[in-house]
Amino acid sequence: MAANVSSQPGISAALIDAIRSFPATRLADHCGAEFSVSPFEIYANCPQCGTRIKLRAFSAQPEVADVFDAVFEWLEQPEADARYRQRASQLREVEN
Ligand SMILES: [Zn+2]
Repeated sequence: MAANVSSQPGISAALIDAIRSFPATRLADHCGAEFSVSPFEIYANCPQCGTRIKLRAFSAQPEVADVFDAVFEWLEQPEADARYRQRASQLREVEN
């Protein structure tokens, strides 16, 4: 029996798949032209006209980018970097 390390909120296989397939770049459009931005940016300035456009909605329904934000915040704590490096190494071994 596995040790109980935390309660399990609503984590679905669909959420895990959405995280795995989350793009590192997203496209925004303004003035009839598309441009690349970080998927984590809340705002971007249109490269054509300079207008500041909102990219992420803050609502009661969290987005996948919000999951990443939580992980990024988690990574700021002491020892998180060592835990990340250890686990990333293990995951690379599994892949190979
Ligand atoms: Zn524009």
